[in-house]
Amino acid sequence: MFNYPREEIHCISARLHFWLCQLRSENRSMEAKFQDVNRFAPDYLDRANNETSEQAEIFRYNQNLKKIATIRSAIERVKTGNYGICMFCGAEISIKRLMAMPDTNYCIECMIELANNA
Ligand SMILES: [Zn+2]
Repeated sequence: MFNYPREEIHCISARLHFWLCQLRSENRSMEAKFQDVNRFAPDYLDRANNETSEQAEIFRYNQNLKKIATIRSAIERVKTGNYGICMFCGAEISIKRLMAMPDTNYCIECMIELANNA
């Protein structure tokens, strides 16, 4: 790992764990809701409304799953000492950027480059 201040890395790691916990618990409560058969209202209009909000929840659930994967991989990189290395160019990601986006895999230059080519 690059020479990041230990305290900052400690703080980032704590934030990653907290974030992971939050997303997992949010998804768990959504899972419980998805399994609740009573959510289907007998009335047609209610049901249409339920379906729209359910779609939004499924979308959110899937977004959370993706985020959980990137957070877990960041936690793993902290453990193995590979944290903060840009996965595209291998350069050091600035500590400021890591503090703002603890789960990022790319330095700012590569992020811009990748966004432009997307
Ligand atoms: Zn890079």
